[in-house]
Amino acid sequence: MKTVDNYNFKNKKALLRVDFNVPFDKDFHITDDTRIRAALPTINKILHDGGAVILMSHLGRPKDVYEEKYSLKHIVKHLSELLGKEVKFASDCIGDAAKNAASELKSGEVLLLENLRFHKQETAGTESFAQELSSLGDVYVNDAFGTAHRAHASTTIIAKFFPNDKVFGYVMANELENINKVLNASEKPVTAIMGGAKVSGKILIINKLLDKIDNLIIGGGMSYTFVKAQGGNIGISLVEEDKMEVALKILKDAKEKGVNIYIPVDTVIADAFANEANKQTVDINNIPDGWMGLDIGPLTEKKYAEVISNSKTILWNGPMGVFEMENFESGTRAVANAIVTATQKGAYSLIGGGDSVAAINKYGLADKVSYVSTGGGALLEYIESGSLPGVEAIDK
Ligand code: AMP
Repeated sequence: MKTVDNYNFKNKKALLRVDFNVPFDKDFHITDDTRIRAALPTINKILHDGGAVILMSHLGRPKDVYEEKYSLKHIVKHLSELLGKEVKFASDCIGDAAKNAASELKSGEVLLLENLRFHKQETAGTESFAQELSSLGDVYVNDAFGTAHRAHASTTIIAKFFPNDKVFGYVMANELENINKVLNASEKPVTAIMGGAKVSGKILIINKLLDKIDNLIIGGGMSYTFVKAQGGNIGISLVEEDKMEVALKILKDAKEKGVNIYIPVDTVIADAFANEANKQTVDINNIPDGWMGLDIGPLTEKKYAEVISNSKTILWNGPMGVFEMENFESGTRAVANAIVTATQKGAYSLIGGGDSVAAINKYGLADKVSYVSTGGGALLEYIESGSLPGVEAIDK
């Protein structure tokens, strides 16, 4: 893998694609600067070599035109505090504003370009736009793992204009290394825990994983499609009737491939989708009419914790229930705790995908697992297809 460590940036202007898509409060204070902090080592490596850094990022989903609330100017002050140096700002990512600022930039200096997505050519992956961006720098560095699954101008197309001068930043390299640890795991048993709302979003990834894992643990809303497909009564639980065949096929394939598949045996049900709803615990195959399953039950929790804590490699994607509601978070919390236990016993654990990351953070356990991925969609797509457009563009 070609990373910034294999490149000397002395007297070079590095065009660095980062993911500064951070959340703000109403006064434009950054409420979570994790993504900005993540990019600092790559920025500092370039500066330390004696290069200059031209930062490119998207922020939010503007409607292809300038919108004040999505301006990256709101990031300049904080970034400059974190770096301990001035950060220059160009009011557009292409055109004279960008060209002049980039050409005046000296070694050791940092320039942030305005939001790439103020131009629709960014997400369209327009070649001429990518070329215009490329003219600003001498070398291309991609450190935006969260958007590496998109063939956008700044994440993928631009790489072709730097045939010999394109490398991965540390965030990208780290993410890829950690996912590959799971996908090429030699430490068995390998356990994948899949939860979340729907089967539909997870079918491809489950199919891919069946060749790589020993245990597949199913939880969350998608469980009820498996239960109904096998003839259980699921009341008014979340279900995808059109995915019942797929669920049965997953069960069959898992059996054929020697993967132990675990479906919940009991469930915590509610008479409304609300934290204060009436609740009870029942056999997952016998949910009364008018009730819905919102969490795995205690027997399932116990079984899952046992399987997880005896695993050597673990991938977790998706909560076991509606963990946002205190009364239905027990299963998700139990899984998070079991992953921590396994990690303490020497297992390698990767948490990936939006809501399991939110869960592990909610329980304050993020630093007790091996790795928490920063890019949910990109991570899942990498597992599904074995690569990403943004990765191929540099590897090619
Ligand atoms: P996903 O984005 O597919 O990983 O789904 C995550 C969401 O699934 C979370 O917001 C959970 O609240 C929700 N979820 C988990 N279990 C259930 C369930 N049993 N019924 C309804 N929603 C659920």
